[in-house]
Amino acid sequence: MLARLGTLGRYILEVWFFLARILYFRWYNARYILIIGGPGSGKSTMASRLEARLGIKHLPMGDLFRREIRNNTAIGRATKANVASGKLASDWHTFRLLYREMRKREYCNGAIIEGVPRTLIQAKKLELLLLFWGHKIDTIAILEVSEADLLERLPNRRICSNKDCGRTYHLKLNPSKVAGICDKCGSALEQRPDDRPEIVSDRLAIFNANAAEIQAFYAHARNVVRVTMDNDTSVDDAFLNLLYAIEQAG
Ligand SMILES: [Zn+2]
Repeated sequence: MLARLGTLGRYILEVWFFLARILYFRWYNARYILIIGGPGSGKSTMASRLEARLGIKHLPMGDLFRREIRNNTAIGRATKANVASGKLASDWHTFRLLYREMRKREYCNGAIIEGVPRTLIQAKKLELLLLFWGHKIDTIAILEVSEADLLERLPNRRICSNKDCGRTYHLKLNPSKVAGICDKCGSALEQRPDDRPEIVSDRLAIFNANAAEIQAFYAHARNVVRVTMDNDTSVDDAFLNLLYAIEQAG
């Protein structure tokens, strides 16, 4: 049906959708929280707990890319090639995916965004994307975990193999109730291929190369909260600290 509309028809439809989204999402008073932290800092765990607590949908960028790779889409194939050569997913693909995802109705309350931005340019583009829809990032939460602790965390991370669930565990810090089985859906847990020890240090190097610039970009932003944790901090404590900091800021 869309093909029969022609270019002008699709353009009108897009403009109409854009205006409708602004009105609709405004009405819901959308709130956007950005979670930043190194690989293994607990972004996904914290975001899914915040989702349950605040009723704002968790938007895990990494999972969106993994879904594209699984479905073998054009974006998935390009990203797989990038990752295989030690690069990040391209900005173009990142924002196409984000744009597509954030148009969905589930995000009418806003989003808890995690896994993006990976670079300074992406940080700027994310602001622009939200501005385009008449929004801004309300809170930026930075999870601070030392590199030594991250190196210890990643190889112990386990992910639910059910792709619709995808809950994250840690063998020591956040274990499942029954070893190897997801608490939420009962599927088997598995190790993510990029959490293998030989790849972890490369990922940390990529993260560190961009982290300082991104943090500097947000340094003067309002509503930045920092939550420091180490490998002796329980997930519950870390979450309560984060929730308190976010509520104080927002
Ligand atoms: Zn599960």
